[in-house]
Amino acid sequence: MDENMGDATLKSEMHFCAVHPQRDTELRCNRCDRYMCIDCAKRTPVGYTCRECVRGHENKFYQGTLVDYALVAATCAIGGALLPFLQLVIGGFLIVGFIVAPAVGGGAAQFALALTQRRRGRYSGYVAAGAMLAGGIASGLLLAGGLGLFTFLFLALATSGAYARFKVSI
Ligand SMILES: [Zn+2]
Ligand SMILES: [Zn+2]
Repeated sequence: MDENMGDATLKSEMHFCAVHPQRDTELRCNRCDRYMCIDCAKRTPVGYTCRECVRGHENKFYQGTLVDYALVAATCAIGGALLPFLQLVIGGFLIVGFIVAPAVGGGAAQFALALTQRRRGRYSGYVAAGAMLAGGIASGLLLAGGLGLFTFLFLALATSGAYARFKVSI
């Protein structure tokens, strides 16, 4: 009995990483207080935080729901669907497209963010970009009578414009 207690005291003086039990450490997470080795610690402006707490923090930032994703996808698909017509509207002034296309992409993303009360999901940027490409290609093939090189260029510009809107950090 006494021996066991002695063991326990000895062990409680040494601390081990919660993820790597073979590594002893004195570093603790500034949020949840768990012990962690240097590999598991993430440096933040307010000290060292464990990976799990960092992830928890990101999850708080990323609050997009499935409905939000759907709204983002729908809005961006419509934005993308407009792009094949851009070429028809501006005719020979293709240079205009290089200014208007990113604005259409950014505008659609902006509108999607307003619709979803600025909630972002971890994958909002990808959803926006994918939907915009799909919308643009579908509308080019089905409505605007084909896809040209410039349609793809405009789509690429619009897509990166939309994607960038969702990338903005805190
Ligand atoms: Zn933690
Ligand atoms: Zn570790």
